[in-house]
Amino acid sequence: MDMKRIRRHAYTSSDPLKGEGDGEALSFSSHGKKHGFQISIPVFVLLVCFIGVTLFVVTSGVHRSESVVTIAGATSGGGGGAGGDTKTVSEFRNSFTNRDKTLGGLLAASGFDDQSCLSRYRTELYRRNTPHRPSRHLVQRLRSHESLQKRCGPGTDPYQKAVEQLRSGQSSKIDQNCNYLVWISYSGLGNRILTAASAFLYSLLTNRVLLVDRGKDMDDLFCEPFPETSWLLPLDFPLKDKLANFSVTSDESYGNMIKNKVGVEKENFIYLHLDHGYNDNDKLFFCEEDQRTIQNATWLILRSDVYFVPSLFLNSLFEDDLNQLFPEKDMVFHHLGRYLFHPTNAVWGLITRYYDSYMAKADERVGIQVRVFEVESGPFQHVLDQIISCTQIEGLLPQTVSHEIAPPATNPKTKAVLFTSLSLDYYEHIRNMYWEKPTSSGEIVSVFQPSYEGYQQSGKKRHNRKAWAEMYLLSLTDKLVTSGWSTFGYVAQGLGGLKPWIMFRPENRTVPNPPCRRDVSMEPCFHSPPFYDCKKKQGADTGNLVPHVRHCNDISWGLKIVDQNGF
Ligand code: GDP
Repeated sequence: MDMKRIRRHAYTSSDPLKGEGDGEALSFSSHGKKHGFQISIPVFVLLVCFIGVTLFVVTSGVHRSESVVTIAGATSGGGGGAGGDTKTVSEFRNSFTNRDKTLGGLLAASGFDDQSCLSRYRTELYRRNTPHRPSRHLVQRLRSHESLQKRCGPGTDPYQKAVEQLRSGQSSKIDQNCNYLVWISYSGLGNRILTAASAFLYSLLTNRVLLVDRGKDMDDLFCEPFPETSWLLPLDFPLKDKLANFSVTSDESYGNMIKNKVGVEKENFIYLHLDHGYNDNDKLFFCEEDQRTIQNATWLILRSDVYFVPSLFLNSLFEDDLNQLFPEKDMVFHHLGRYLFHPTNAVWGLITRYYDSYMAKADERVGIQVRVFEVESGPFQHVLDQIISCTQIEGLLPQTVSHEIAPPATNPKTKAVLFTSLSLDYYEHIRNMYWEKPTSSGEIVSVFQPSYEGYQQSGKKRHNRKAWAEMYLLSLTDKLVTSGWSTFGYVAQGLGGLKPWIMFRPENRTVPNPPCRRDVSMEPCFHSPPFYDCKKKQGADTGNLVPHVRHCNDISWGLKIVDQNGF
């Protein structure tokens, strides 16, 4: 405040001396001459000395004051008040410079062009609540898997030879060290992300190169996860045109090979049909004996729309490895999802602009994902009632009070509520609720929703970019409410390391009682697991075989991984 006054004073008093080379001072000096100022030399010298000393004192004072103010501003921030902002900025900058861009070794530290995928090393500037670190074993395995992808991936000799073998229709093994798993891009985006993560875990456990069919937009949505190579299936892949047609009836499926008693070893590839509509023979994929049979095939082609990881945890061949990879069992998707799925720059722009505009400054961020599985489009009163009762009973959002104005609160907490839904109606109602009435807690609640696409448009790039951006934004919240059964919500909770409050799927258009419940783990639910005990070769409840694979809260027959310590 005083700075301006001191500066103004210093400039006016020093103008005659500043004169050399300064246009304004020159005009002042000629102005003096015009009025015929006469001073003797000794007086002039004295005057110069006086003004010089005064100027030195004043200007050095200015500099000292400036640095004090700067330092005070920077250090006093922790005390709250106006300085709080400054501290936040410096803390933010510190965290930027000292941060671990590899997420505890999860990501390779080099081998990528940073500018072509800005999200890769910048997630934790936005995601504050991820204390979970990958195990050393997982980190080592990821690094060795990256070398495998590079050594055997597209453009290498082993890949070329394996492709020639596939094209020729021969089954003979060429290179025992380079086997492949081709993931077919299929279904909604949430399903795709979950199946790609499942496929990656399977390829990690069985040392296979993972190649993804790019479908309409895999390369538009996700950066390359492996350094110095590509996970995208080359466009001239021999079976490219067949990928979309594989189904439960395909002769090449593992289930049909078993049924038709075809010797698997004679085939040059095996199609794995792990879609929710698979049959009992397809499900044998999860058994030990069948894994031994499959392991020698150079090419596996996988079509799935489910998160089949929980059933891999029931296979004793993978048990030791999985225990070491994931000592905290319910971290599988959290780690693999953050390892694999980095939004491309176009999607990262959608995420960061939205986050900075609406979410960054709030004291708390609450995400509400509304997915309605009704044939008619709605809106439905029972869905709205469920959202309100869930968030208020669980204390996630404050109640409103009937009087029109609340007494002014000192330092009220701000809550940013991010809605995602195909429809606008639920968000609009909740937004109006907090506009029209004050909250009982005095909290300031702002409610917003990035898009309302109306209906699922899986083939459209812009639509899927928004869907991916919204899943990611939900994962950046502090507390998350999801709709049961929805893989869209599973992706958000897993990436964010959040145990969500799940709103149960309503039946007969009535609000379930309770409307929602805190989930036991952040892991996604496997919607259509086999109910088969491979060792006993008979039906079994697979949610009761080991303590860390349980039935899901939202789908009673589904399976999910939980950490035993979570109970
Ligand atoms: P699920 O059907 O809920 O398991 O999730 P999926 O992601 O597999 O499929 C639903 C698709 O519908 C999404 O991928 C989007 O294309 C669209 N969709 C559903 N809910 C939303 C939403 O809240 N926002 C946006 N942008 N798209 C959505």
